[in-house]
Amino acid sequence: MTPEQLLAAPSTALPTLRGAVAGLPSYVPGRRSARADIAALASNESHYEPLPAATVAVAEAARRMNRYPDMAAVELRERLARHLGVSLEEVAVGPGSVGVLQQIITGLCDAGDEVVFAWRSFEAYPILVELAGARPVRIPLDHLEGHDLDAMAAAVTDCTKVILLCTPNNPTGVPISHERIEAFLQSVRSDILVVIDEAYVEYADAGSGPDSLALYRQYPNVCILRTFSKAYGLAGLRVGYAVAVPAIAEGLRRTALPFSVSALAQKAAIASLDAGEEMAARASAVREERARMAAELEAQGWKLQPSQGNFLWIRADEVLLATLVEAFNGAGIMVRAYQGDGVRITVADAASNDRVLRLLAAHAA
Ligand SMILES: *Cc1c(COP(=O)(O)O)cnc(C)c1O
Repeated sequence: MTPEQLLAAPSTALPTLRGAVAGLPSYVPGRRSARADIAALASNESHYEPLPAATVAVAEAARRMNRYPDMAAVELRERLARHLGVSLEEVAVGPGSVGVLQQIITGLCDAGDEVVFAWRSFEAYPILVELAGARPVRIPLDHLEGHDLDAMAAAVTDCTKVILLCTPNNPTGVPISHERIEAFLQSVRSDILVVIDEAYVEYADAGSGPDSLALYRQYPNVCILRTFSKAYGLAGLRVGYAVAVPAIAEGLRRTALPFSVSALAQKAAIASLDAGEEMAARASAVREERARMAAELEAQGWKLQPSQGNFLWIRADEVLLATLVEAFNGAGIMVRAYQGDGVRITVADAASNDRVLRLLAAHAA
């Protein structure tokens, strides 16, 4: 090549990711397996099939997949508004509550703004915050595996835009009481959006967590986040929602990827709300299994905090965690291990739960 040709040659450098993206922690998905004897207890999904009415609604909607869905999801939002006792303008929907949360963070946070949340909590939180160029502020859980709200309030700065409260907390299962959240709301600035993530609210015993709608009515900076992925059994369809004052809810709708909630998901969510009693009966069966497992594990010698979710949390040091992970893998039971913290096990059908109990009996203190 002549010097002129060399100069004109394209550079061999490859395109690079934004710094915020390159530094992101990866979301570790629950492991999947096609083996029939595998117990899938790693992702807190419902072990029940979708409610029959939801399956019928999806089959009907499938015949119109050539059409775009209703971008404003009016029918679903109207049904949710009726379900919750709020107005249409106060409801925003998205592709899973993780999708709605992304709308919240990107809608409210500029680069350098801070989002405060407990840690350990839902793994998606730091990812969504960093993706938006904002700064995650992780506040360690208290010694009872719950939110340390005093420390969270103390961590608020002029840059704080959003605070995430997860109740019951994933992965520990510990709820935040109504009174504690109310005191917290009184102590934080009203221009900070306080998101109450209630992904597991249907599994919580009455009165264990907040009456979030009452808090929302009293404190307009509250945003409630819920999902059809867990107790409603629609994890694969991707639909969740937020309740917030109209200006915020409208902002979320503006930041949403257009058409991200499919017509199938909208119809299935409506049918599932209509079958609410069936869902509640299933959730109550899971609660009974959770209580049975907790009692049995206590009898085995495990010291666990009571969980209000459809999962149990075992705090484990490195040695115990390695032992448990090997045992669960060997037994064909998929659970979620968190390096340095512990293991989370979804409560499912009685037979799967029995397998978990038998395995843990061999490793009790
Ligand atoms: C599972 C879960 C969600 C729900 O995620 P979707 O996007 O609705 O499937 C939200 N928050 C927490 C804490 C969860 O564990």
